[in-house]
Amino acid sequence: MKAAIFYGKGDIRINSNYPTPEVKDDEVLIRVMACGVCGTDLHIFAGAQGATECNPPVILGHELSGIVECTGSAVTRVKVGQHVTINPNIACEACVQCRRGNPHFCDHMAATGVNFDGGFAEYCVVLEKQVFVAPDRVPFEELAMCEPVSCCLHGIDLSQIQMSDTVMIIGGGTIGMIMLQLAQMSGAVRTVMLETNENRFALAKALGADLTLNPAKDDVANELEKHGFDDIRVVIECVGRPETVQSAIQYAGKAATVMIFGLTDPGCTIPYMPFEAFKKELTVKTSFVNPNTQGRAADIIASGKLHLAELISDRISLDHIGDAFKPGPRNGKSIIVP
Ligand SMILES: [Zn+2]
Ligand SMILES: [Zn+2]
Repeated sequence: MKAAIFYGKGDIRINSNYPTPEVKDDEVLIRVMACGVCGTDLHIFAGAQGATECNPPVILGHELSGIVECTGSAVTRVKVGQHVTINPNIACEACVQCRRGNPHFCDHMAATGVNFDGGFAEYCVVLEKQVFVAPDRVPFEELAMCEPVSCCLHGIDLSQIQMSDTVMIIGGGTIGMIMLQLAQMSGAVRTVMLETNENRFALAKALGADLTLNPAKDDVANELEKHGFDDIRVVIECVGRPETVQSAIQYAGKAATVMIFGLTDPGCTIPYMPFEAFKKELTVKTSFVNPNTQGRAADIIASGKLHLAELISDRISLDHIGDAFKPGPRNGKSIIVP
């Protein structure tokens, strides 16, 4: 089969004669139809670490969808021909954290597309338990976004949005746009997005943002007050930079929850304003990957109520996968198609 092999920092190459994987008893072979390029892939490509450690050579790509090509002898639930997506993360189900109901903290966590060959290839083999079946009508490129949606869903669960809340989203990238929509589904009646790239404003508005502000230009505090957004109950930070984390704490209202969702550099430190947090009695939270949310994410995508197609900026053929890893700002989600 054709596959994009990651050999180490900055080095990804196509091999047209890579052996097509064979299924073991409990495994499923998927013909990949779409695979999203995740921030994690870009981090690993740049030499950093993902949620689990990567040991090249390996095929990256963990946001995949496809058609079941064949199944192992012990596979009972998943059938050939079904349209599927996967949870890339594999927990051992036996360690203390797994048995405590926290599979994302598994001591032996491994992941398809990080430790095991992933979806930047024509075929990908996974365990049956990783597979989520979807109705045939769901577009493959939307189904491929199930993993990022499941991560957002965990962040939304932890943010505890209540009916009638005003919610601020910081950052209008793919994750920010998903969060914006999930916040409204969770009961937010007013949403404001902070984003420095004003080209994203029209999409944010189309997806339901009531107010869009550019913190590089606008007097955010003033604008919020002017538009009646002075009681922000939940702030979801989707950038992962010191200044945006500080903004999250600054603009959060009384007794608000601040969700630091954006991935910072591992060594990043941020001046913390305890008095600001104290006088507002803030709850500051973080969210790590997608424990037990993949099935719900697949259901939400299958419902067609989450706008995902609008978030895709590039469809890149496997042969040109290098284009997806070029440095520079992203306009949205890149999807690799075979
Ligand atoms: Zn991802
Ligand atoms: Zn475990």
